[in-house]
Amino acid sequence: MKAAFNSAFTLLPGLAAPSPFAALHLSGFWQWSAGALVYAILWDRLQYWFQRLQHGVPFFRRTHALHHDSEAFHCSDALRNTVGASLTQILLIGYPLVAIGAHQLLHLTAGVLLFSIFGFYNHANIRLGHGVLAPLLTGPQFQRVHHGCGETYQNANFATFFPWIDMLFGTYRRPCPDDFPPTGVAGRRQSQGARSLLSAFFGC
Ligand SMILES: [Zn+2]
Repeated sequence: MKAAFNSAFTLLPGLAAPSPFAALHLSGFWQWSAGALVYAILWDRLQYWFQRLQHGVPFFRRTHALHHDSEAFHCSDALRNTVGASLTQILLIGYPLVAIGAHQLLHLTAGVLLFSIFGFYNHANIRLGHGVLAPLLTGPQFQRVHHGCGETYQNANFATFFPWIDMLFGTYRRPCPDDFPPTGVAGRRQSQGARSLLSAFFGC
C-alpha cells in the first residue's frame, strides 16, 4: 500500500534522470511537493519578467490585452489568452526550463494543480484576501489588483504564485482590505463574440 502511494507521487515517469533531491532522501509525497515548490519558484521568476514584457513592450502588450480586457473579472479569465501569448510563453519560459531539466521536478498532478486549478482560484471573482499570508502566496485579491483598470494597477503584482517576487523588484502592491478595483483596460472595450476570436489569433 505504501509502495503504491509513493509511486503515485514519484516525479515524471519515463524520465530516468536521478532525483535532484536524492541527497535529502526525500521520497513519495515529500519529493513530489519539494519538486513542485522548486519548479513553481523557477517558473514564477521567469513568468515575472515575461509579465513585465507583456506590460511594457508594445508587441507583447498586444498579445496580453485580451487577458486583461475582461470587465467582469472571472475565473475563466485564467484561460483568456491569445495564441501569441501562449507561443511566446512556451518560448521564453517553457523551453528554458526544459533546457535546464527543471521539468523533471514536476509531477503531472502537481502541474494540473499549479497551472489549472490554482489559475482558476487566482482569477475568481470573490472578495478574498490572504491577510498576513498575502506576501507569501497570491490569490484572488492579489490577481484582481493586477487586473485593475488603470495605470496604477496594471503595473503591479506580476507574480503568478509568490508575491515576494514582486517585493524583490519593487512592483508589489499590497491590497488594502477593500481593494477590489474594477477590471479591464482603459480605453479598450471588452472583446466579445467574433472580436474576441480575432483577438485570440491576432492580438488585436
Ligand atoms: Zn498582466
